Amino acid sequence: MKVVLLGPPGAGKGTQAARIAEYLNVPSVASGDLFRDHQKRDTELGRLARSYMQRGVLVPDEVTISMVTEWIETEAGDGGFLLDGFPRTLGQAEALDGALSNADGLDRVLYIRVANDELVRRLTGRLVCRECGVTFHRVSNPPPADGACGDCDGGELYEREDDRPEAVGKRLEVYFSETAPLIDYYREAGILREVDGEQSIEDVGQELVEKLGGAS
Ligand code: ADP
Ligand code: ADP
Ligand code: ZN
Repeated sequence: MKVVLLGPPGAGKGTQAARIAEYLNVPSVASGDLFRDHQKRDTELGRLARSYMQRGVLVPDEVTISMVTEWIETEAGDGGFLLDGFPRTLGQAEALDGALSNADGLDRVLYIRVANDELVRRLTGRLVCRECGVTFHRVSNPPPADGACGDCDGGELYEREDDRPEAVGKRLEVYFSETAPLIDYYREAGILREVDGEQSIEDVGQELVEKLGGAS
């Protein structure tokens, strides 16, 4: 199955991706993680992406599309994949359709819906593991008491630079102008399924799994 997780920054895409990928038994990737990995390795792409990410705006389509389609070609087999954070523009969505035109296209787009004030609360309390990339939240999903990651071997937790309040406002603005139009794009294609993201992590996960199948 070929699935996309769609939703505003802070909706819980990364939190749910591992569970969905495991359920489907497909590889998953987050475009933001690919960019952060390039930055860690100090590649040319990483340096380019940093200048956009710091400002909370999107990295240009051209480089983003080639990075993700290359991942699909090299990492995703015939069994499908899960994409988190890509596509984020109509141009990216059309490029993805083009890349999949020999493979029946996407099967599902799962849209995680969360209201703005809750997004701000989630992003400004987010903690990310430097080692494994798993996210926690200071209040709603706290890390172990020693403040180290509980998912890998105690990786250091940090606050993303673009989760500062100044960048968060800009990212939400960018989401509404550039990414939200994809909701209608995929609804018209008949593959969009909407999930209420303001439930417990467990309940959101369960609803996502339910909406992978069936007609509604
Ligand atoms: P979040 O998890 O909060 O939605 P991401 O980690 O997905 O954030 O993205 C962080 C930043 O990386 C974005 O603000 C943007 O600069 C860049 N980025 C990630 N995915 C894309 C994409 N598909 N197109 C353009 N830029 C992207
Ligand atoms: P995204 O990848 O969509 O940007 P994340 O998965 O990183 O979002 O989640 C953003 C923040 O919200 C994290 O701190 C995470 O722990 C927290 N979070 C995720 N899902 C929920 C939920 N259902 N209820 C409360 N907090 C959540
Ligand atoms: Zn970790």
